Amino acid sequence: MAIDRIRRTRKKEKGEIITIDGPAGAGKSTVGKMLAQRLKYFYLDTGAMYRAVALRALMEGIPPEDELALERLCNKLRISFQGDVPKQRVICQGEDITERIREPRVGWMASKVSMRRPVRQAMVRLQRQMGEKGGIVAEGRDTGTVVFPRAKYKFFLNAARSERVRRRHQELRAKGLFLRIAEVEKEMKKRDKQDSLRDLAPLRPAADARFIDSTSLTPEEVVEKIWQIVKKGSKV
Ligand code: C5P
Repeated sequence: MAIDRIRRTRKKEKGEIITIDGPAGAGKSTVGKMLAQRLKYFYLDTGAMYRAVALRALMEGIPPEDELALERLCNKLRISFQGDVPKQRVICQGEDITERIREPRVGWMASKVSMRRPVRQAMVRLQRQMGEKGGIVAEGRDTGTVVFPRAKYKFFLNAARSERVRRRHQELRAKGLFLRIAEVEKEMKKRDKQDSLRDLAPLRPAADARFIDSTSLTPEEVVEKIWQIVKKGSKV
Protein backbone atom coordinates (compact mmCIF):
# COMPACT_ATOMS: atom_id res chain seq x y z
CA MET A 1 0.00 0.00 0.00
CA ALA A 2 1.59 3.26 -1.09
CA ILE A 3 1.95 6.26 1.16
CA ASP A 4 -0.40 8.32 -0.97
CA ARG A 5 -3.19 5.92 -0.14
CA ILE A 6 -3.75 7.64 3.15
CA ARG A 7 -4.13 11.36 3.13
CA ARG A 8 -4.32 13.40 6.25
CA THR A 9 -4.85 17.05 6.86
CA ARG A 10 -1.92 17.95 9.02
CA LYS A 11 -2.55 20.93 11.21
CA LYS A 12 0.88 21.04 12.78
CA GLU A 13 3.95 19.60 11.11
CA LYS A 14 6.01 19.47 14.28
CA GLY A 15 5.12 18.18 17.66
CA GLU A 16 5.15 15.13 19.84
CA ILE A 17 3.68 11.70 19.39
CA ILE A 18 1.09 10.95 22.06
CA THR A 19 -0.37 7.45 22.29
CA ILE A 20 -3.54 6.43 24.10
CA ASP A 21 -4.28 2.72 24.33
CA GLY A 22 -6.90 0.79 26.23
CA PRO A 23 -9.94 -1.47 25.92
CA ALA A 24 -13.22 -0.64 24.18
CA GLY A 25 -15.30 1.98 25.95
CA ALA A 26 -12.49 3.37 28.11
CA GLY A 27 -13.00 6.80 26.55
CA LYS A 28 -9.96 6.83 24.25
CA SER A 29 -11.77 8.35 21.28
CA THR A 30 -13.50 11.13 23.18
CA VAL A 31 -10.35 12.02 25.06
CA GLY A 32 -8.08 11.60 22.03
CA LYS A 33 -10.23 13.90 19.90
CA MET A 34 -10.47 16.57 22.60
CA LEU A 35 -6.73 16.45 23.17
CA ALA A 36 -5.92 16.63 19.45
CA GLN A 37 -8.18 19.65 19.11
CA ARG A 38 -6.55 21.38 22.04
CA LEU A 39 -3.04 20.72 20.79
CA LYS A 40 -3.94 21.24 17.11
CA TYR A 41 -2.51 17.80 16.46
CA PHE A 42 -3.69 15.20 13.99
CA TYR A 43 -5.99 12.58 15.52
CA LEU A 44 -5.22 9.06 14.37
CA ASP A 45 -7.97 6.57 15.14
CA THR A 46 -6.18 3.29 14.42
CA GLY A 47 -9.33 1.32 15.29
CA ALA A 48 -11.15 3.07 12.44
CA MET A 49 -8.57 1.65 10.03
CA TYR A 50 -9.15 -1.93 11.23
CA ARG A 51 -12.87 -1.26 11.06
CA ALA A 52 -12.50 -0.05 7.44
CA VAL A 53 -10.74 -3.31 6.52
CA ALA A 54 -13.47 -5.23 8.35
CA LEU A 55 -16.29 -3.43 6.57
CA ARG A 56 -14.76 -4.09 3.15
CA ALA A 57 -14.13 -7.72 4.06
CA LEU A 58 -17.79 -8.06 5.02
CA MET A 59 -18.91 -6.35 1.81
CA GLU A 60 -16.71 -8.59 -0.31
CA GLY A 61 -17.56 -11.77 1.59
CA ILE A 62 -13.99 -12.40 2.73
CA PRO A 63 -13.85 -14.69 5.77
CA PRO A 64 -11.57 -13.43 8.57
CA GLU A 65 -9.44 -16.60 8.33
CA ASP A 66 -8.52 -16.02 4.69
CA GLU A 67 -5.18 -14.24 5.12
CA LEU A 68 -4.35 -14.22 1.41
CA ALA A 69 -7.61 -12.53 0.48
CA LEU A 70 -7.17 -10.06 3.35
CA GLU A 71 -3.66 -9.24 2.16
CA ARG A 72 -4.98 -8.60 -1.35
CA LEU A 73 -7.73 -6.47 0.11
CA CYS A 74 -5.28 -4.37 2.15
CA ASN A 75 -3.12 -3.86 -0.95
CA LYS A 76 -5.96 -2.29 -2.88
CA LEU A 77 -7.67 -0.39 -0.06
CA ARG A 78 -7.59 3.38 -0.12
CA ILE A 79 -8.33 4.66 3.36
CA SER A 80 -8.12 8.31 4.21
CA PHE A 81 -8.94 10.64 7.07
CA GLN A 82 -10.41 13.89 5.84
CA GLY A 83 -10.76 17.07 7.82
CA ASP A 84 -9.93 17.68 11.42
CA VAL A 85 -11.65 16.59 14.58
CA PRO A 86 -14.44 16.94 15.54
CA LYS A 87 -15.50 16.80 11.90
CA GLN A 88 -12.94 14.26 10.73
CA ARG A 89 -14.36 11.71 8.29
CA VAL A 90 -13.16 8.22 7.40
CA ILE A 91 -13.14 7.59 3.67
CA CYS A 92 -12.55 4.21 2.06
CA GLN A 93 -12.56 3.57 -1.68
CA GLY A 94 -14.02 7.05 -2.13
CA GLU A 95 -16.95 6.32 0.18
CA ASP A 96 -17.63 8.04 3.50
CA ILE A 97 -17.79 5.13 5.96
CA THR A 98 -17.60 7.17 9.19
CA GLU A 99 -20.96 5.96 10.49
CA ARG A 100 -21.09 2.47 9.02
CA ILE A 101 -17.88 1.31 10.68
CA ARG A 102 -19.45 1.92 14.12
CA GLU A 103 -21.95 -0.90 13.75
CA PRO A 104 -21.34 -3.68 16.31
CA ARG A 105 -20.96 -6.35 13.60
CA VAL A 106 -18.13 -4.31 12.07
CA GLY A 107 -16.46 -3.95 15.49
CA TRP A 108 -16.55 -7.68 15.97
CA MET A 109 -15.18 -8.33 12.46
CA ALA A 110 -12.45 -5.72 13.10
CA SER A 111 -11.38 -7.64 16.16
CA LYS A 112 -11.12 -10.77 13.98
CA VAL A 113 -9.30 -9.33 10.97
CA SER A 114 -6.91 -7.39 13.21
CA MET A 115 -5.58 -10.74 14.47
CA ARG A 116 -4.19 -11.45 11.00
CA ARG A 117 -0.56 -10.65 10.28
CA PRO A 118 -0.92 -9.15 6.76
CA VAL A 119 -3.63 -6.79 8.03
CA ARG A 120 -1.58 -5.64 11.01
CA GLN A 121 1.54 -5.21 8.91
CA ALA A 122 -0.27 -3.06 6.35
CA MET A 123 -2.01 -0.91 8.94
CA VAL A 124 1.04 -0.42 11.18
CA ARG A 125 3.09 0.65 8.16
CA LEU A 126 0.55 3.30 7.26
CA GLN A 127 0.12 4.46 10.84
CA ARG A 128 3.86 5.00 11.12
CA GLN A 129 3.93 6.96 7.88
CA MET A 130 1.24 9.23 9.22
CA GLY A 131 2.95 9.74 12.56
CA GLU A 132 6.57 10.03 11.53
CA LYS A 133 6.61 13.82 11.65
CA GLY A 134 4.98 14.04 15.06
CA GLY A 135 2.12 16.33 16.00
CA ILE A 136 -0.18 13.37 16.46
CA VAL A 137 -2.50 11.82 19.02
CA ALA A 138 -2.72 8.12 18.13
CA GLU A 139 -5.34 5.97 19.76
CA GLY A 140 -5.89 2.21 19.75
CA ARG A 141 -4.62 -1.01 21.30
CA ASP A 142 -0.92 -1.15 20.34
CA THR A 143 0.03 2.44 19.50
CA GLY A 144 2.40 2.66 22.49
CA THR A 145 3.75 -0.89 22.28
CA VAL A 146 4.12 -1.57 18.54
CA VAL A 147 3.27 1.38 16.31
CA PHE A 148 5.13 4.17 18.12
CA PRO A 149 7.30 2.50 20.76
CA ARG A 150 9.41 5.65 21.00
CA ALA A 151 6.50 8.04 21.54
CA LYS A 152 7.29 10.67 24.13
CA TYR A 153 3.94 10.38 25.90
CA LYS A 154 2.12 7.11 26.35
CA PHE A 155 -1.13 6.65 28.21
CA PHE A 156 -3.17 3.57 29.01
CA LEU A 157 -6.77 4.44 29.64
CA ASN A 158 -9.04 2.02 31.44
CA ALA A 159 -12.35 2.00 33.31
CA ALA A 160 -14.50 -0.54 35.15
CA ARG A 161 -16.26 -2.79 32.66
CA SER A 162 -19.75 -1.80 33.91
CA GLU A 163 -18.89 1.84 33.16
CA ARG A 164 -17.42 1.00 29.77
CA VAL A 165 -20.58 -0.92 28.90
CA ARG A 166 -22.77 1.98 30.04
CA ARG A 167 -20.79 4.44 27.89
CA ARG A 168 -20.83 2.22 24.81
CA HIS A 169 -24.59 1.64 25.23
CA GLN A 170 -25.19 5.40 25.35
CA GLU A 171 -22.88 6.04 22.42
CA LEU A 172 -24.75 3.50 20.28
CA ARG A 173 -28.14 4.94 21.28
CA ALA A 174 -26.95 8.40 20.26
CA LYS A 175 -26.21 6.91 16.85
CA GLY A 176 -29.68 5.39 16.62
CA LEU A 177 -28.59 1.82 17.42
CA PHE A 178 -30.85 0.50 20.16
CA LEU A 179 -29.24 -2.59 21.65
CA ARG A 180 -30.02 -4.11 25.03
CA ILE A 181 -27.39 -3.42 27.66
CA ALA A 182 -26.84 -7.17 28.11
CA GLU A 183 -26.03 -7.47 24.41
CA VAL A 184 -23.51 -4.62 24.60
CA GLU A 185 -21.89 -6.27 27.61
CA LYS A 186 -21.66 -9.64 25.91
CA GLU A 187 -20.09 -8.13 22.79
CA MET A 188 -17.61 -6.11 24.83
CA LYS A 189 -16.54 -9.11 26.95
CA LYS A 190 -15.95 -11.18 23.85
CA ARG A 191 -13.96 -8.42 22.14
CA ASP A 192 -11.87 -7.64 25.26
CA LYS A 193 -10.96 -11.31 25.52
CA GLN A 194 -10.10 -11.66 21.85
CA ASP A 195 -8.03 -8.45 21.80
CA SER A 196 -6.10 -9.37 24.95
CA LEU A 197 -5.36 -13.00 24.19
CA ARG A 198 -4.25 -12.81 20.56
CA ASP A 199 -0.62 -13.56 19.67
CA LEU A 200 -0.01 -10.46 17.55
CA ALA A 201 0.06 -7.08 19.31
CA PRO A 202 -2.28 -8.05 22.16
CA LEU A 203 -3.91 -5.28 24.14
CA ARG A 204 -1.51 -4.43 26.94
CA PRO A 205 0.05 -1.30 28.35
CA ALA A 206 3.54 -0.29 27.26
CA ALA A 207 6.05 -0.63 30.11
CA ASP A 208 6.50 3.16 30.09
CA ALA A 209 2.81 4.08 29.76
CA ARG A 210 1.02 6.15 32.40
CA PHE A 211 -2.19 4.55 33.64
CA ILE A 212 -5.38 6.56 33.92
CA ASP A 213 -8.54 5.05 35.39
CA SER A 214 -11.42 7.01 33.89
CA THR A 215 -14.24 5.24 35.78
CA SER A 216 -15.18 8.27 37.83
CA LEU A 217 -13.62 10.98 35.67
CA THR A 218 -15.25 13.09 32.98
CA PRO A 219 -13.49 13.24 29.58
CA GLU A 220 -12.56 16.86 30.40
CA GLU A 221 -10.83 15.71 33.60
CA VAL A 222 -8.88 13.02 31.74
CA VAL A 223 -7.81 15.51 29.07
CA GLU A 224 -6.70 17.93 31.77
CA LYS A 225 -4.54 15.23 33.40
CA ILE A 226 -2.86 14.43 30.08
CA TRP A 227 -2.55 18.11 29.17
CA GLN A 228 -0.72 18.86 32.42
CA ILE A 229 1.79 16.07 31.77
CA VAL A 230 2.40 17.08 28.15
CA LYS A 231 2.63 20.78 29.02
CA LYS A 232 5.29 20.06 31.62
CA GLY A 233 7.48 18.13 29.17
CA SER A 234 6.97 20.08 25.93
CA LYS A 235 6.42 23.59 24.69
CA VAL A 236 2.77 23.36 23.71
O1 C5P B 1 -10.98 0.99 18.93
P1 C5P B 1 -12.04 0.25 18.18
O2 C5P B 1 -13.07 -0.36 19.05
O3 C5P B 1 -12.63 1.08 17.10
O4 C5P B 1 -11.26 -0.94 17.45
C1 C5P B 1 -11.93 -1.97 16.76
C2 C5P B 1 -11.07 -3.23 16.83
O5 C5P B 1 -9.88 -3.02 16.05
C3 C5P B 1 -10.60 -3.60 18.21
O6 C5P B 1 -11.51 -4.45 18.90
C4 C5P B 1 -9.28 -4.31 17.95
O7 C5P B 1 -9.47 -5.68 17.70
C5 C5P B 1 -8.79 -3.68 16.66
N1 C5P B 1 -7.69 -2.76 16.91
C6 C5P B 1 -6.41 -3.28 16.97
N2 C5P B 1 -5.36 -2.44 17.12
C7 C5P B 1 -5.54 -1.12 17.23
C8 C5P B 1 -6.83 -0.57 17.20
C9 C5P B 1 -7.90 -1.42 17.04
O8 C5P B 1 -6.23 -4.47 16.88
N3 C5P B 1 -4.46 -0.33 17.37
